[in-house]
Amino acid sequence: MMRKTKILCTLGPATESAEAIASLITHGANIIRLNMSHASHDWVRMVYQRVREAAAGAGHEVSVLMDLTGPSIRTGDVPQPWQLVKGDKVELRTTDDAQPTQNYSTTVNYAGLSKDLKAGDTINVDGGMIQLRTLEVTPQRVIGEVMTQGEMKSRRHINLPGVPVRLPPLTQKDYKDLDLGVELGVDFFALSFAREPAHLQHLQLLLDQKGSKARVIAKIENQQALDNIDALVEASGGIMVARGDLGSECPIEELPLIQRRIVERCSYHGRKVIVATQMLESMIENPVPTRAEVTDIFNAVIEQVDCVMLSGETSVGRYPDKCVEVLDRVIGRIEATYKSGRFANDAPLKTNKHKTVKSAIVLANSIEGSKLVVFTLRGVMAHLLAHQRPESAPIFAFTPNLHVSRTLTTARGVHPFVMEFEKANPEANIRAAVEVLTAKGLIKQGDPLVILSDALYAEANIDAIFLREV
Ligand code: PGA
Ligand code: MN
Repeated sequence: MMRKTKILCTLGPATESAEAIASLITHGANIIRLNMSHASHDWVRMVYQRVREAAAGAGHEVSVLMDLTGPSIRTGDVPQPWQLVKGDKVELRTTDDAQPTQNYSTTVNYAGLSKDLKAGDTINVDGGMIQLRTLEVTPQRVIGEVMTQGEMKSRRHINLPGVPVRLPPLTQKDYKDLDLGVELGVDFFALSFAREPAHLQHLQLLLDQKGSKARVIAKIENQQALDNIDALVEASGGIMVARGDLGSECPIEELPLIQRRIVERCSYHGRKVIVATQMLESMIENPVPTRAEVTDIFNAVIEQVDCVMLSGETSVGRYPDKCVEVLDRVIGRIEATYKSGRFANDAPLKTNKHKTVKSAIVLANSIEGSKLVVFTLRGVMAHLLAHQRPESAPIFAFTPNLHVSRTLTTARGVHPFVMEFEKANPEANIRAAVEVLTAKGLIKQGDPLVILSDALYAEANIDAIFLREV
């Protein structure tokens, strides 16, 4: 199967059994997300094991992304849900000793709220289901007036559109979750509400120190991140367009433009980009997607993103396999029609390695039916090939390193294979790769192959391009 755009599935109660996980992977899931906002450590250990076993059983690797909750702002307990109507006053207490002064009064887990907010600022509760306008701010409390009414329950998520918040990059819970991810060997960590490049560097350094090879995906969720977008993209191992939170942090009409801009910046800097949230929202309940959802998938594929993500659709939905199947079919159909997109190939060719990769792609693009084969020790060449977006040639990536092969599951158009290399014997390696690909029915006699290698001569590390016919 030659689909280029990768599918990321979030695990949850609907997909925690070994059978359900195996089924997601055989239907085409390439990356599995463990959302630490809703997962206990025991649960993570259990499903992680199941993912690795299922991938081994399916005969192709998937990568695992641990999504760290980050310091989100949440309201406290509301024993009985409040039916808020326009004009009601709601109090959010920022310190433990503050006494309620309003009928509707609850705590909030972020003391800095009274420092970051000023009168007139909007407070979105529960993804904007309830909207408050800030009336009064004191060191101990924030009082807001209900603008958009709704039912208010316990521990609701709060967004402050356009307000620069001074939350720390990670919470104590995140550090504990991170240790678990390092211990298990997850391939990526996602940092929710990434705001500063320094936060990403801090996390990456921590991972390096702990001996993890995982890269950090920055989740772009608010205006603060958008203000820093180029620096965040550069400091990250990849970006997630977190449309759920972006949609309540920014004016909703900006969202398609924001998505496009982030994809462009990722293309420019040569970073992975994942488009997330509500890709198939209606399929949480229904076995078929809405027409608008199919068109949303179309847009992401045309933008040439690396991955599209499913959240509730696979974690709690009724039709997880069907969702993957629909994505697989829709993506496959679009890719078969549109070979290249508007955002391809504008990354600057910084080094000779970039130029070598570009040459291989020019060659592959100019030879009908050709396929790219890359031998890569650390994955660099394969990631570079994917970033430069070949028009139609698939990228078959061979590496002796299991972790490298797993990280390559996120790269657009890359099909990774683990293979031991025979040192200083390029011919033997090419022969072995051709055998694997032929046996899997991925290439056939007469197919032109553009072969790229930084690993054939392990000692000398020479970059080389070969043109062969199977
Ligand atoms: P979440 O992130 O699902 O962890 O909130 C994605 C988003 O906000 O879109
Ligand atoms: Mn989010």
